[in-house]
Formats: sequence, C-alpha cells, structure tokens
Amino acid sequence: MADAENRPSNFIRNIIDADLAAGKYPTTHTRFPPEPNGYLHIGHAKSIVLNFGIARDYNGLCNLRFDDTNPEKEDIDYVNAIKNDVSWLGFKWSGEVCYSSNYFDQLFAYAEELINKGLAYVEFSNQETMREMRGTLTSAGTNSPYRDTTPAENLQLFHDMRDGKYKDGECCLRAKIDMSSSFMCMRDPVIYRVRFAHHHQTGDKWCIYPMYDFTHCISDAIEGITHSLCTLEFQDNRRLYDWVLDNISIETRPHQYEFSRLNLEYTMMSKRKLNALVTENHVQGWDDPRMPTIAGLRRRGYTPGAIQEFCKRIGVTKMENTIEMGVLEACIREDLNESAPRAMAVVDPIKLVIENLPDDHIEWLDAPNHPSDESMGTRKLPFSKVVYIEREDFREEANKKYKRLVIGKEVRLRNAYFIKAERCDKDEQGNITTIYCTYDETTLGKLPADGRKAKGVIHWVSASHGVEAEIRNYDRMFTVANPAAVEDFTTVLNPDSLVITKGYIEPSLVDAKAQQGFQFERLGYFCFDGNKNADGKLIFNKTVGLRDTWTNNESK
Ligand code: ATP
Ligand code: MG
Repeated sequence: MADAENRPSNFIRNIIDADLAAGKYPTTHTRFPPEPNGYLHIGHAKSIVLNFGIARDYNGLCNLRFDDTNPEKEDIDYVNAIKNDVSWLGFKWSGEVCYSSNYFDQLFAYAEELINKGLAYVEFSNQETMREMRGTLTSAGTNSPYRDTTPAENLQLFHDMRDGKYKDGECCLRAKIDMSSSFMCMRDPVIYRVRFAHHHQTGDKWCIYPMYDFTHCISDAIEGITHSLCTLEFQDNRRLYDWVLDNISIETRPHQYEFSRLNLEYTMMSKRKLNALVTENHVQGWDDPRMPTIAGLRRRGYTPGAIQEFCKRIGVTKMENTIEMGVLEACIREDLNESAPRAMAVVDPIKLVIENLPDDHIEWLDAPNHPSDESMGTRKLPFSKVVYIEREDFREEANKKYKRLVIGKEVRLRNAYFIKAERCDKDEQGNITTIYCTYDETTLGKLPADGRKAKGVIHWVSASHGVEAEIRNYDRMFTVANPAAVEDFTTVLNPDSLVITKGYIEPSLVDAKAQQGFQFERLGYFCFDGNKNADGKLIFNKTVGLRDTWTNNESK
C-alpha cells in the first residue's frame, strides 16, 4: 500500500473511504474499460491512473476490460496496443484481460429475462420513425406500436434476430421504460441491434450485438466491480445503468460515479478525431510524437513517471476544464532534469577551426553526465581541431548582451577550453561558412591565470567524431487552443508542427536505446526515436525545451 501521505485525495476516494468504513464492501474493485477502436490518449491515462491507483492504494483489484460491442470499428491491433500502453504506464490488471464479449451469452440471457418480465420488446419501426417517436427535450415521446407485443412473441422474435432471420437495421430490441422520461436515455433505449459483422473475439458467432448501456453495467456486475468510474457524459445514463441492474437477477451491485474528462489545450482527445489525423495522413501514425496518444508521448520521450505525475497534479473533480500544455510539459521537464544524462549535439551546425591545434589533434576529455548527480558518472568527449557549433552562437559583432562568440572575444567550449574568434569565411551570399579561432591550452577545467572571463559557454561537437543525425523539432499540432471546437480541424493544423534539421551528435549517443532521453545541453530534452531515417541517420525527437514556452507567450 502506498504510504497514506502520498495518496491523492479526491471526491471519489472520499466515497470509497466512506463505503469501506461503513462495511459496504470488503475491498475495492475497479476497472478500466476502453473500447478497442483506437489508441489510448492522455485522457485515458487520467482514467487509468484513477482506477489502477485506487486498486494500488486500497489493496483492491482493477480489471482491464475491453468494451467491445462495436465489431465494425474495433480491431485486435488496438487491443494489443492498449494492453501494451497500460503495462508501459506501470499498471498490472487483475487476472486475465476481460472482454465484454466474454459475456455475450449471459447478456443474451439477461435480455431474455427482461423480455419475459415484459420489460423489453422487439422494434420494427425504421430509424426515422423511431427518432420521431422519441420526442424532444421539451416534449414527451410516443409509444411504439410494438410496445405491447406479448413476452412470448417477443422472445420468439429476439431468437429470430439471433438466428439471422433479420437484416442489419431491420429490427432491434428495446428496453420498455418510459417514453416521457425527462432523461432521453430512458425513452425505451435500444439494447440489442442486428449487425452481420465479424468480431475480433467472437468471430462470426453473433449477428446481434448488445448496446453499450446494456453491456457496461452487466459486465461491471459480473466482474464484481464495486465503484464504476466514468466520465461526466454518462451522468444521465446512470439512470439506465441502475434500471438494468434493478430489473435483472444479478447478485452484485456496482455503482457508477462520474468525473470530468481531461481536456488539453492545442490538442484533441477523441479517438475518432485522432483516427482521422492518422487516416488522412496529417501525422505519420498513432505513435507520431505530435499525437496526444500514450504511444506518441512515449516516442516523444515522455516517461510513465511523468504521465503519472501529471495525472496526480490535475486531480479528479466534476468540473469541466482545459489544462494548459505547460502543465504536462513541466512534468516531463522536471523528470528529465533529474534523470536524463547530459550530452552535446549541434542542431544547426557551422564549422569552427581552432588554428593553433595540430591537424591531427585528438584529445579525450572527461565530461560529467549530470551536473548535480555524480553517480551518473562521466563520459569521454573527443576534442579536435575542427568542431561544429550552433550558427546562432556566433556573430561577427554584437553588443554586451550577446553572451556568445564574437570576433575578438572569448567563450568557453562546454567541458573544454576557452576559445577566441579571430575571423570568418563567407560564401557569395554573405552566409558565414567557417569561423577561425585560437584556444587557450591553460583553461581546461580552470580559469586563466590572468583572471580573464569568458563571455559565455557554448556547446560543440568534434567534426571528425560527431555523428550526423536527424533532429525532429515538434511544436503544437494546432494553431488554436481548442481545435475540437472548429468545424473542420484541418483548417487549424500548424504547418510547422514538425521541423527537421540535420545536426551532429557527440559519438557517445550512437549507443542510445530507443526512447532513451538526454538533455542536449543548452537546447532541451531529446530522445532517440529508435529508428533511422531513409539515409541511415539516427533520428532524435525533441521532447521538450529547457524552459516553459507556453505560459504567458501566446504568440510565441
Ligand atoms: P474517445 O472519445 O476518445 O473515444 P471514449 O470515452 O469513447 O473516448 P473509451 O475507450 O470508451 O473512450 O474510454 C475508456 C475509459 O476512459 C472510459 O471510462 C472513459 O470515460 C475514459 N476516458 C476517455 N477519455 C477520457 C478523458 N479525456 N479524460 C478522462 N477519462 C477519459
Ligand atoms: Mg467510446
């Protein structure tokens, strides 16, 4: 059990505390119920951390249950990706993975029970007529002409549905509740429909599938769930959840509680919309590092710890709100600041020649892997006559505020010596091509004896040892904070959400493991993508900058 002081506190945990104190349940049993119709996103992480976190802190259980009642939209690849993401986030589900489809036989039997009790009937009206009969928020609906069919007839019709005697959409099974209820979901909701579709778990066994509202509560009860936690859009549906369980003979009695969804600025949280980004090729896949998916965040260099910390910081309430991107980024920045080894890379290289070094000079310098954590050790850094520095770290002339390299002035090459710029070459367009310097051999790890100060410290990579790499810089995917509110989100895609440069990395980085994170000194946090580009160069993804560029910087 996690120590009590570190436990989050929220209204759901308060309810659980009260239930346990009252002896209502011996322990907690929660579940995370994704539909396998896409990859998990950071919003799902909120639900995962809530459900699995409760199991962890109360010595309870948490199931992973696939809510798989829409075979046409679902896929076994999504099932596998979701399992992988939940495990990667650091959670273990109780027992085997569950599927609502495991319960199709039981669900069918409970539907028969409702029919026998006169609480469900087979509907033959078409969709248009059903919509008209449903009424509106301000006017009651009207009863279907099929509402009073006898239980015996309905049972036969329902069996005929199962036996494939009706086509898709020709009929459906409805719960008989109340066509004048102020809750639209209680106006005789559909609970089974005909769908001749192959199912990733049950194959071609069924041509009828139960609806979500009927399936979810019964699956919860079958699994002995105590607290069924879902997002606020299911608030009204809680009436139906309770109605179904009140009207079938099932022993256990779960209760549903709703909390607000996570919304994050400059991104979208709906699997349907994320799917559109993938299928319309606005991104390179579900794990594109610009995606708010768990897979995308992982490839971007996020760690499970940072995502868990984020979920802790945002909390769980019933209030709808939108979280600033800076909150998520602060979590990974703080994590990597502690855990990521430092390294040097130059992302916009310009050549610098140290003229007072011999052509074949190679010196292996020791560089600490972390400024404050000595246990992370040191690495060898090759220093040679020609190095790369960032183009923006040199100017021919500059005022005092420019703390970098200027002709006639000195800077320190990080982890190495003082250098002084002497002159530079330019191409025909006036672009600087090479900078010529001299170095002071007395300044390794110490200041010059005469007390001279350097204007600043700049990073560098030896040209003869540096390895060319593809650097991928990411920015917000959309140009507006709430793209989901725009009718056509393709009109607000940020054309600069991915900017690729050719850089050079220090040689120690070629051994990086996939998604291993580094602080490229002075540049930000980057991780090895795990892949090479078409030219065989290693790809590094920018995870996050060194400082928050979101807050108070709308125009950027
Ligand atoms: P989407 O609209 O992205 O498809 P969903 O709610 O349909 O989301 P499910 O697979 O049904 O996705 O969700 C599984 C669980 O995750 C549900 O309990 C759902 O309430 C929760 N969940 C989904 N999105 C969010 C979110 N943005 N914030 C918090 N919880 C979420
Ligand atoms: Mg859904």
